[in-house]
Amino acid sequence: MPDVQLTELLAAPLLDEWRPEPGALWRQLVVCTGNDYCHYSLIDTKRRAVELVTELERRGVEAPAGTRIHMSGCVHACGKHHVADIGLQGANVRIGDEVVEAADIFTGGRLGDDARLAERVASRVPASALADALAALLPQRALAAAPGA
Ligand code: SF4
Repeated sequence: MPDVQLTELLAAPLLDEWRPEPGALWRQLVVCTGNDYCHYSLIDTKRRAVELVTELERRGVEAPAGTRIHMSGCVHACGKHHVADIGLQGANVRIGDEVVEAADIFTGGRLGDDARLAERVASRVPASALADALAALLPQRALAAAPGA
């Protein structure tokens, strides 16, 4: 693509929202199709994931480069949440008279020579509380990834 076209492309309003150089939390985000197209999904994964990472960025939560957050809408795990640093599996939880979207949280999944499945560390966390939960978990990830940790 000629440079002049690249400049025009980079100035497109769409790229204000969907940046060509996203932050660390966006780069490794993997999300299954969710209830737009899959009747197994317990939650609206795409919307929840965007809301979650947007809120974490707004709070200034940082993560080491390469931190992988994966979300699946159900136990079938098309979002491969079991091999993520932080995995989210869609759930529902009753709060009073209302059933709301939620997620189980997994941590510690890895690929490669040291592969292992993530472990569930919290169950049925309401979607409204996921940012608080991940804001607490991500600094631990940063410590774990620090040299000498
Ligand atoms: S993980 Fe579940 S909800 Fe997501 S695409 Fe697979 S079957 Fe559907």
